Order: sequence, then C-alpha cells, then structure tokens
Amino acid sequence: MHCPFCRSTETKVLDSRVGEDGGSIRRRRACVECGKRFSTTEQMQLMVLKRSGATEPFSREKAITGARKACNGRPVTSDQLACLGQEVEDTLRAEGWAEVPAHEVGLAILRPLRALDEVAYLRFASVYRAFESVEDFEAEIAMLRAERAVAVPQPATG
Ligand SMILES: [Zn+2]
Repeated sequence: MHCPFCRSTETKVLDSRVGEDGGSIRRRRACVECGKRFSTTEQMQLMVLKRSGATEPFSREKAITGARKACNGRPVTSDQLACLGQEVEDTLRAEGWAEVPAHEVGLAILRPLRALDEVAYLRFASVYRAFESVEDFEAEIAMLRAERAVAVPQPATG
C-alpha cells in the first residue's frame, strides 16, 4: 500500500470499519512521509469450490463467459452481460459464502439471465438444473408463462 500523493510506502491506519455489504473493510490512512490522508477499501476474496474439491478465486469473467454462450445468437449486449456479472458477484457476496460451490455460481446466473433473455435462460437452466427431458423444458416454460401472466396484468375490457 503506497501513498497516492508521494508514493511512499510508509502509511498508517487511522480508522477501520466493515463495509455495508459486510464483505469489505474500509480504512482511513495517513502517509507518514507527506502527512496526507486517503481511504482504501479491501474486498474479501470470494472463493469458488470446484467439483474436484479444489478452490479458485471467483472470476466474474468466467461467469460472463458461461452466460454469453447461452446468449449465442440472442439480442443481448456485452454491456448487459457485464451487468449480469456484477449482479452475480453481488448476489454471492450478499449470501455470505466462505467458499461458493461452483454449482451455486451457475444458479446465481439464472435469475439475472432470465431477466435478460428467456431463451438464453432456458438454455442455461437446462444445464445447471439438469433438465433431462422435453417435459422438463415444458414445465419450465409453463412456469415462465404463468409468472409473466401474474407480472403483467391484463388491461380491463369493456
Ligand atoms: Zn505521502
């Protein structure tokens, strides 16, 4: 950690507090060399537990890549995918995992993906929720329709 004003590495911590999300620590620091003050935010590392038992740091880029494949040929922009990656990371951090099982990362992608594109959502869900038959797709589609009917009330007629 070096001073952003004079690049000195001699800094001292004046105050530390846990961020609102509970997954970060905000520190107020002062430079010993020039005396100027600045703040830093330290983010807790989010780890993913792979099926092999190994762990690796959560990669937003990896989550986006998975979602992007499901969006192949669909009208979804890279900006929208970037937002999805942010939302997935925020969701997992808010859930407070010490180590997120890889499968949970997939599930966390489903909700924002559904808001983006229902076809991409169905593709992705077929993998992460292990659809095994056409009936599984039909059941999911029926559920999407039912929820859409509730979300968008029909205008009154007459
Ligand atoms: Zn300084």
